[in-house]
Formats: sequence, C-alpha cells, structure tokens
Amino acid sequence: SVLLELKNVSQLYGSGEKRFVAVDKVNLTVREGEYVALLGPSGCGKSTLLRIITGLQKASEGDVFYRGQRLMGVNPYASIVFQTFALFPWLTVQENVELALKARGVEADNRRRLAIDLIDRVGLDGFENAYPRELSGGMRQKVGFARAMAVEPELLCLDEPFSALDVLSAESLRGELLELWLSGNIPTRAILMVSHNIEEAVFMADRLVVMDKNPGRVVADFEVNLPHPRQ
Ligand code: ADP
Ligand code: ADP
Repeated sequence: SVLLELKNVSQLYGSGEKRFVAVDKVNLTVREGEYVALLGPSGCGKSTLLRIITGLQKASEGDVFYRGQRLMGVNPYASIVFQTFALFPWLTVQENVELALKARGVEADNRRRLAIDLIDRVGLDGFENAYPRELSGGMRQKVGFARAMAVEPELLCLDEPFSALDVLSAESLRGELLELWLSGNIPTRAILMVSHNIEEAVFMADRLVVMDKNPGRVVADFEVNLPHPRQ
C-alpha cells in the first residue's frame, strides 16, 4: 500500500533576482516494503525533498500525502537521520535518545528503559553516559539511528547517513542497517535514503530514483534486483 505521495512538488529559494527553482514538479510514490535510494548530484534538491517529506519544511508548491492524508506540519510517521549526526553535544548518548522519546510524549520511567534498549540494539551498550565528542563518527551515527528509531518511524528518511564516516565504519553500519531492515524486526515499513553513491544505493535499495539539477527533477525511477530478499 502507498505510504507517501508527492504530487508536483516544487521548491523555490531566494528572493528577487536570486529567486530560483531548486525542486521542479517532483512526483514520487513510496509504498510499504520499499527501500528507495534517492540519487543525484550535489544541489539537485535531495535534502530539500527529505525536509519536505518529514515536514521540517513546507514546499512552495504541490502536495504531500501520507497514507492518503495531506501532510500539514511535522510528519509524525517519519523520522530522519542526518549526515552529520546532529546530536546535542551537551547531552549524553542516553539523554539524546531520551529527548526524542520525550518529544513523542513517553513518560520519564519508560523513556529511560526504552532509551537503554535502543542504545543496546545499535551496539552501544555501556556508552549510555558518554558525550558525543567522546565517540567515533560511526558510534555517533549509531546514536543518530537510535534516536531516529525511538519514534518508531514507519518511514525512515536517511540523508547520506554514511558519507561522514570512514570506509570501515560506513561498511559495517550499512550491513547492520540492512540486516535490521531485512529481518523485518523494526516498525519501519519503508526507507528513503539520500545518497550520491551509486554503489551504496544499489547495495542497499530495491528502487532507485535519480534526480538531476538546475532545476532539481526526477529523471529516472526504477526497481533494481534485491540483493537479499526481505523476510
Ligand atoms: P542536495 O541535497 O541534493 O545537495 P539541497 O536540497 O541541499 O540539494 O539544495 C538544492 C539547492 O537549493 C542548492 O542549490 C542549494 O544551495 C539550495 N538550497 C538548499 N537549501 C536552501 C535554503 N534554505 N535557502 C536557499 N537555498 C537553498
Ligand atoms: P547537502 O548538500 O547535504 O544538502 P549543503 O551543505 O548543501 O548540504 O546544505 C547544508 C544546509 O545549508 C542545508 O540545511 C541547506 O538547506 C542549507 N543551504 C544550502 N544552500 C543554501 C543557500 N544557498 N542558502 C541558504 N541555505 C542553504
């Protein structure tokens, strides 16, 4: 079934002479069970689309539907993992994860328990009280994933989640995410991953959506063979 539907979504930026079309009439549908990679050159509007889909930003034109409902404000079914982690540096690992649970209205006692469980699931058992600066890039991104998963997102949006990591950390984190996704053991029903790495996209996703820039448009949208069938 259809989760996300973008209809003729456009985004203009700037004003006056500098006004330009960053995203031009994008149509995109994401269905349950899909792992979609959104590919394209820097500046083609990939991050902009993710912000529109998660409701962090309202598109200048067009419509966004989630499960058939027009999206207004933050999308409660989606969460996002950023390239550069975006953790609060003055909060511990556990506090960073708990904050996401608090935003979702989970009570204090449960927040603690759920946060510890999530941290454990991403393999950071024992680092609950560490601060982001004390962790490697790969570990920080695991906190990013734990925080995103805290809201049990149906749609998990990933904005180049591996590109700030060293090669080995990226490889292991990709493997761990894929394993979790293929196991079906997460509430997430679809993944939308921004990437500019075609190899990574083909390895992870079962569908590729390719954009070009000036203006940002979808120029190809096709399925690829699943490297590993989802259970
Ligand atoms: P990508 O993620 O594909 O690199 P972005 O969505 O970040 O693309 O950006 C698309 C274009 O819009 C780029 O030219 C970028 O500089 C511009 N842009 C992105 N965000 C803003 C903004 N908040 N204000 C003005 N221009 C922006
Ligand atoms: P990415 O390519 O991964 O999207 P960027 O470095 O292009 O990252 O953008 C980082 C942030 O800066 C984004 O939030 C984007 O919206 C904003 N941004 C990018 N270009 C501009 C711009 N020309 N004016 C204002 N904000 C911008």
